[in-house]
Amino acid sequence: MSESMHPLYDKHVQCPFCTHSFQTKKVRSRFTRPIHTDTDFCTMYKDEQNSPLLYVPIVCQQCGYTFTDQFSNLMSDQSREEISNRIAKRWTPQNYCKERTEVEALNAYKLAIYTAQLKKEKAIVLAGLYLRVVWLYRKRKEPQEEARFMRLALKMYKRAYEEDDLTYTDMNALRVLYLIGELNRRLGLNEEAIRYFSLVVQKKQLASDPKIITMARDAWFQIREDQKSSSLNLSTTGN
Ligand SMILES: [Zn+2]
Repeated sequence: MSESMHPLYDKHVQCPFCTHSFQTKKVRSRFTRPIHTDTDFCTMYKDEQNSPLLYVPIVCQQCGYTFTDQFSNLMSDQSREEISNRIAKRWTPQNYCKERTEVEALNAYKLAIYTAQLKKEKAIVLAGLYLRVVWLYRKRKEPQEEARFMRLALKMYKRAYEEDDLTYTDMNALRVLYLIGELNRRLGLNEEAIRYFSLVVQKKQLASDPKIITMARDAWFQIREDQKSSSLNLSTTGN
């Protein structure tokens, strides 16, 4: 396979923390073939080995600072000091700039989450990182870890919605409300899920993306169907 045909390419980046310049792998968009998208937007690809999901966080090999395109350029002096003490000074060089396995990608996401916490990134940025960890654990069929990160993502999306923290991101308020409903539904918290899906439907005039209204209605309907079949099971096994 010639270099130009390889699904991965080297992207030139500069560490916003220590200014070290380096190259890191990204997936060429023409090689990403989605075959299915789950109701929480987790996309399955024809070639999972070269999924773009694996290459979202960029890890500076020199200092350990880990970031994504969603991180802001701002950093307070206090955050800078925290990152210096807790990440850069303790970092033993590790190379995340080559091809990644799912486990390496998970480690890169966890480094990005830790960096985002110390940097005090917006709740919506942290929520997006937690959600992507959820997807990776789903692909690895580790339901307990998947549920643990779903709870973390849920908490952060709620904070992002309450703090109206959505400006300058690619997530609009309705999509966030829908995701809060959907994560509740996946965690079995049906009453909460219905509350959020009904909010999405009520606010439908705000939808720039009408598909989200249909998705909320479908998920709401799904809960009603699940409740009907579980009460049917109870009444047939209850006597
Ligand atoms: Zn660095």
